[in-house]
Amino acid sequence: MSRVILHCDMNNFFASVECLLNPELAEKRVAVCGNIQERHGIVLAKNERAKKFGVKTGETIWEAQKKCPGLVIVPPQYRYYAEFSKRAREIYKRYTDLVEPFGLDECWLDVTGSIRLFGDGKKIADDIRAVIKKELGLTVSAGVSFNKVFAKLGSDLKKPDATTVISEENFRELIYHLPANDMIGIGRSTFQNLKNIGVDTIGELAAVPVDTLRIRLGKHGEALWRYANGLDDSRVIPEEYSEPIKSIGRGITAVRDLVDAKEVHAVMLALSVEVARRLREENLFAGAVQISVRDSRLVTREFQCALPIETSNSGLIEKYAYDLFCRKYSWEYNVRSVTVRAIKLVQCVCARQLDMQIDIGRLERREKIDGIADMINKRYGKGTIKPMTLFSDIHIPQSRPDGALIPGFNIRT
Ligand SMILES: [Mg+2]
Repeated sequence: MSRVILHCDMNNFFASVECLLNPELAEKRVAVCGNIQERHGIVLAKNERAKKFGVKTGETIWEAQKKCPGLVIVPPQYRYYAEFSKRAREIYKRYTDLVEPFGLDECWLDVTGSIRLFGDGKKIADDIRAVIKKELGLTVSAGVSFNKVFAKLGSDLKKPDATTVISEENFRELIYHLPANDMIGIGRSTFQNLKNIGVDTIGELAAVPVDTLRIRLGKHGEALWRYANGLDDSRVIPEEYSEPIKSIGRGITAVRDLVDAKEVHAVMLALSVEVARRLREENLFAGAVQISVRDSRLVTREFQCALPIETSNSGLIEKYAYDLFCRKYSWEYNVRSVTVRAIKLVQCVCARQLDMQIDIGRLERREKIDGIADMINKRYGKGTIKPMTLFSDIHIPQSRPDGALIPGFNIRT
């Protein structure tokens, strides 16, 4: 089933908010401008009345005033814009939790899962426009389509206060005659590049062999070709969402090579303490551990193994990291650098796969102690509590908050 994506764009956003805050302005030609005191201040937004006189975003105040007699210039008040922006997003979220902001005045909404509840894409877009007008006093242009790129194009097609549907059936007819730079992702230099190969419109872009674009514009060219052909499959990503962390690693490069396993062991312990602390900070458990060892010839080898249980306990991470090192590293050359990395990460809240050899009660107690040590170290300074070995063998200077150090070694993340 194809997706239903909306792009909602609040019209003349800054200027509209200014007119709401000061209703006297609504009857006038208004431009919101930066650096009003200076002649080269520029227009950030204008209302419909000013637009009719040809006032454009990005031109200088001086140019705008020449075109538009009686233009009222006001400075931006961002805190109000942020407030209206937030309230609009709250309205969007009544229809779907998949809301991706694009600047203060625009959002994509994936309403695919909401159409049974609220009606088709056009109906939802019209409803949203009505609600925002009623509750916020602002008008919205909405584009409805089966991908983000076309939804955004749709919101530009009719302004202000309108809904445009770009469907799988009508997209060629509706947008192929438009200049290519109407499409998101095509700035001035890309547009010039396209013009150089005879591409002016979105339709012409869609018809160019994709290889030609790949050669001239690389991956970006291929993406643009896909956009023009209605093949954009990028997701609507809610603002709360952040890319899941795939690994957490800490490493050091030695100024003097490590000459025996004992030295490597101390380093690995220091690194594991840091890795484990970061895991807990992110509420993650590691399912496996990976080590990189670079020797004095600068040859790097990487090994990994599963942990017997998903954990954020530095002791267990260090034990498996060091064990892995002992099993895999044939000591022909001294060691120049070591990295310990926690991989196969899972959220702490997930149920853990139990291993018979692990005393889970004991592990949980150790993890609890780790958490308390984190709190104390946070409060009283890094290294206040640390494994005994680190007191004797190596030092962790507090002046380097991002990592462990031993004299003569530099930490890297
Ligand atoms: Mg806008």
